[in-house]
Amino acid sequence: PYLKSGLSSEVQQKTLKHPCYNKEAHDNARIHLPVAPKCNIKCKFCNRKFDCQNESRPGVTSNLLTPQKALETFDYYNEQVDNLTVMGIAGPGDALANFNKTKKTVELIKEKYPEVAICLSTNGLMLPIYAKELKELGITHLTVTINAVDPDIGEKIYDSIYYNGKLITGRNAAKILLDNQLEGLAKLKEMDIMCKVNIVAIKGVNDGHVKEIVKKVKSLGVTFTNIMSLIPVAGTEFENHEKLTEGELKAIRKSCEKLVTQMYHCRQCRADAVGKLGEDKDSEKRKIS
Ligand code: SF4
Ligand code: SF4
Repeated sequence: PYLKSGLSSEVQQKTLKHPCYNKEAHDNARIHLPVAPKCNIKCKFCNRKFDCQNESRPGVTSNLLTPQKALETFDYYNEQVDNLTVMGIAGPGDALANFNKTKKTVELIKEKYPEVAICLSTNGLMLPIYAKELKELGITHLTVTINAVDPDIGEKIYDSIYYNGKLITGRNAAKILLDNQLEGLAKLKEMDIMCKVNIVAIKGVNDGHVKEIVKKVKSLGVTFTNIMSLIPVAGTEFENHEKLTEGELKAIRKSCEKLVTQMYHCRQCRADAVGKLGEDKDSEKRKIS
């Protein structure tokens, strides 16, 4: 159920060894290499001092690595951690807003470790532009975070985007972001890349809209969604926002389960997480970064 149709046996095999995409792969480890500092959008729940909440746990700051240092970090952890089968770039900003650094890191890891799954997460603004190149680079797994498929709701979540050299705000920003996310997913549909859509569910803002998002992305070939609860962060518009309860989050996931497979085991990891899910070696990592 985690696999979309038409994937090559290579991507299928790598998916089976990816602990986020396959909960049975709990003995496999992943590493997030924090090489992507910048972001090209401004989510109203994000405090730029911290890691991107679209994929990572907010309220922590990951140490930045150069691509070369990222390779050395992978080399180090490949010795320390059993079954390191996934390399991901999940910030601390957006993987595609730092395309040159992301590309260089992927090239270095791919060259030395061709058997490793290469996983990126993005807000999707630049997805239509880079989709083809991502496949050529050898990306096997991609997460796009989509928090609204209606710009009127998107406007409540996104403050602005920086696109084609311009800062765009309000509904127009939410509309361009949405159009690009959907166009990007449509391009990926025919590609040999396993996709996941993350959704940050915000009480009273988009929690009643999540099912619409899931329906829309399903129509674009997505077979797997990860619905997460907003974690309010200090210094943002949502800092005092009430969180969804565990029960409310579970109910939303359940209501979407008939549409596509739901992820129930996401740990909202740091952008520099390493190890098996839930057994991170973060503190050791910081010593060598
Ligand atoms: Fe922050 Fe991530 Fe949103 Fe960028 S995409 S503003 S880093 S939460
Ligand atoms: Fe996997 Fe969730 Fe952690 Fe991302 S944040 S690596 S999807 S468990």
